[in-house]
Amino acid sequence: MTAKDEAGQTILIIDDSQDDSDVFERFLRQDPKIDRIEKAETSEDGLSLFESLRPDCTLLDFNLPGHDGLNLLNQVKDIDPYASVIMLTGQGSEDIAVAVMKAGASDYVIKDSISAVGLRSTVNNAIGKMRLQRKIDAQQEEQATFLRTLLHDARAPLRHISTFSELLAADFEAGDHNNLLEYCGDIRIAAKRIQDLLDTLASYALSESDVSFEPICMNGVIEAVLDNLAHRIDARQAIVHHGPLPAVTGHQPQLIQLLQNLVGNGIKYCEAEQPMIEISVNALDNGSTHLFKVQDNGIGIPEDRLAYVFQPFKRLWSQDVYEGTGLGLAICEKIVKRHGGKIWCESQKSRGSTFFFTLQHADMAVEDRKLAS
Ligand code: ADP
Repeated sequence: MTAKDEAGQTILIIDDSQDDSDVFERFLRQDPKIDRIEKAETSEDGLSLFESLRPDCTLLDFNLPGHDGLNLLNQVKDIDPYASVIMLTGQGSEDIAVAVMKAGASDYVIKDSISAVGLRSTVNNAIGKMRLQRKIDAQQEEQATFLRTLLHDARAPLRHISTFSELLAADFEAGDHNNLLEYCGDIRIAAKRIQDLLDTLASYALSESDVSFEPICMNGVIEAVLDNLAHRIDARQAIVHHGPLPAVTGHQPQLIQLLQNLVGNGIKYCEAEQPMIEISVNALDNGSTHLFKVQDNGIGIPEDRLAYVFQPFKRLWSQDVYEGTGLGLAICEKIVKRHGGKIWCESQKSRGSTFFFTLQHADMAVEDRKLAS
């Protein structure tokens, strides 16, 4: 959990004893990470506050009128299985403690024996535990999607390779040489599709790995991108225009990958005779942040799909229309987040797209700048 994730926490206390909830509130107010504490005295108010606030942690009295604590815990967990709930119980209630932990509470505290330090540390642990669980589950889900997609996307080209090599062998044996070269071409295309898929999956996995950051001149990055894309730029007679670019703090291979995916998409998703891509940059926050803009004259993205396209494997077109894996923008997002920035897109169908991302400024010695560019 980063310091940023931890800041601005909201806590909900559901307890019919106002004295008790005042004490807990006082204990928690001393934690600078907590900036909002709300209180409810009944199950109904507690549940509706929970729904509207979605607090980072809920302190829930087991002995609510009607012995409703456990019931309410179940309702809260139905709304959000990752809700972190600390049950407040009375003395000597181990059976209750076991029951509430089984029902999904993050922890329990015995009301009379809890100290300010103890309560704050219990709350922090509960929040940390649930965030970690959410992250682990999301990663597992992502890995499962990865595997499903790999199996699904690799199957069609593998089937093509098998079919065309059988046709090739049969025609060759029959002495019919008319289509042999065409079959070889089809096999090469299918093999390339598998290669591209594996390369993209590898870059996605690598964008997760720990890398070290240093001052990087973005002029050098764009030169490498243009070099890598030279073939595609030539094939479409595309124009990629940019002015002088600043130095940023980052990892060069990832920054090349980021810009390459955006420029590559600008060329690919373009029906104009000549794809035109303009890369520009503005300084933000007194120059400590740079806002990069990659604008194309392509087919655009419907406004209601702008967030969707950053999700892994989400594509707006089938392979027959535009080839791809649906991972390019997900990789961009991971890279930018890794660099502490944000990425987003503004676009309209048929009106071109503009991708924005932010990176942190770096100062570079003049000699380094020359070397890098
Ligand atoms: P891929 O290009 O491999 O499908 P991406 O993650 O790079 O995957 O993009 C996801 C989807 O977003 C694409 O399938 C395409 O529909 C859309 N998209 C991305 N970039 C552009 C662009 N510059 N112009 C129009 N559509 C785009």
